[in-house]
Amino acid sequence: MENILASILIVVVVVLLFVLAFVLARTIVYGKAPTPIQPVELDEVDENIIAEHLAAAIRFPTVSDLDRTKVDPKPFQDLHHELKRMYPRVHSTLQVEVVNRHSLLYTWKGRDPQLEPVLFAAHMDVVPVDPVTKDEWKQAPFSGFIGGGYVWGRGALDVKCMVITPLEAVEHLLRKGYQPERTIYLAFGHDEEIGGAQGAAQMAGRLQSQGVKLAAVMDEGGSIVERGMVPGVNLPVALIGVTEKGYLSVEMQVEAKGGHSSMPPAHTAIGVMSQAINRLESQPMPIHPEMVYGMFRDLGGYMSFGLRMAFANTWLLGKTIQKKMAAKASTNAMMRTTSAVTMINGGVKDNILPSQVKATVNFRLMPGDRIADVVAHTRKVIDNDGIQLHIPESGRWEASPVSSTEAEPYQTLVQAIGEVFPDAAPAPYLVVGATDSRYYTSVCEHVYRFSPYLMTEEDLRTVHGTNERISVEGLAKMVQFYIRLMDHWAGKSQ
Ligand SMILES: [Zn+2]
Repeated sequence: MENILASILIVVVVVLLFVLAFVLARTIVYGKAPTPIQPVELDEVDENIIAEHLAAAIRFPTVSDLDRTKVDPKPFQDLHHELKRMYPRVHSTLQVEVVNRHSLLYTWKGRDPQLEPVLFAAHMDVVPVDPVTKDEWKQAPFSGFIGGGYVWGRGALDVKCMVITPLEAVEHLLRKGYQPERTIYLAFGHDEEIGGAQGAAQMAGRLQSQGVKLAAVMDEGGSIVERGMVPGVNLPVALIGVTEKGYLSVEMQVEAKGGHSSMPPAHTAIGVMSQAINRLESQPMPIHPEMVYGMFRDLGGYMSFGLRMAFANTWLLGKTIQKKMAAKASTNAMMRTTSAVTMINGGVKDNILPSQVKATVNFRLMPGDRIADVVAHTRKVIDNDGIQLHIPESGRWEASPVSSTEAEPYQTLVQAIGEVFPDAAPAPYLVVGATDSRYYTSVCEHVYRFSPYLMTEEDLRTVHGTNERISVEGLAKMVQFYIRLMDHWAGKSQ
């Protein structure tokens, strides 16, 4: 008997040692070796002029409003004029088309018309300033104030900086007598903040109708987040959005007999709706961990040992990682289709049974989940034929295709990041919000969403919030980055 126990014990110890050795071996080989970056001499740019140009652009309140009749066209026209004044070479050399009255599509013809062009996107519109928070701004939101090393104002980060800095880069390259090998488009939409249907969608449609196929697209998205914002990674991380989530709002409706509330049924219409909401919230869509795993795989070399071991051994610890990440709203959103009940309406008086209740659920779709899957999931989870679902015909979209991290444009994007931001570790990532870039997936396989500036936790709160500002030094780096990326993507080297 003792012998048997001893043998079992030995077997258990041996198995455990094997598991431990396997876990350690995987930890050691985990992650991707960072791409070696050849240091290059960056072109000198004048940060004060760039700052002044951005400040000038901020002073035009190009505010988007969901009620399009309320959008003032004048600031957009004024901004167009100002761009023309600030970038004379761009406007005399490039072809400039005003698309749908307020969007701008610039074409810089390349030497070789056989090569597929590349496109740099951004948007000129901004979100309004919440009147309640107006007094919290240290500088008036449309003042374009420059001081303390910053340019202040609505749109500084989101995203007039990405209108000004590529124009600055092209003006600089033209001054040097540069002509790209590939054609370069600059596409600046005017309604991204309200869906992009009139701006980017039209520009993408125009390119598609001309039979243009793009080699690569860059638009806003992930930025270089300061150290500590990606947990366990001891460096700033350049988050390159390789896809973005889809969007769907479903309206649920319950009808019931009204009547006096003195003799109510077991569940009023509000009770029935509450149960449906409760079920939806407690049975979320399944987790798709691949995006998060992919991001950490590229950061493997920079992670703490514990985190590295965990991600290297998802076969063993995957469930634990997923549980931990699902518990936090920001990381949960990176792994699954989320649902948020955002509106509810029902009942008219305290002593009358509600005859109708409506609730709206906003879903953000993970790549891999289709709109049809979300609707099927909702029906199944609610499990109540008495609840009607209204699926809108428009204002919804699937998650974008995932752009490759192996493709050359991604690799050269990483190169450009390394050249200008050598301290940042690049990693692919999922954009949980929506950008104009989704429209360009119809004409391009390689769409990358990257805002080339350092973002702190504090900065992040200012986007669509108060005291939005960008550092003057950061702006100069952005221009240098565009110069490098334009050369990588469209220069002679390719
Ligand atoms: Zn934006």
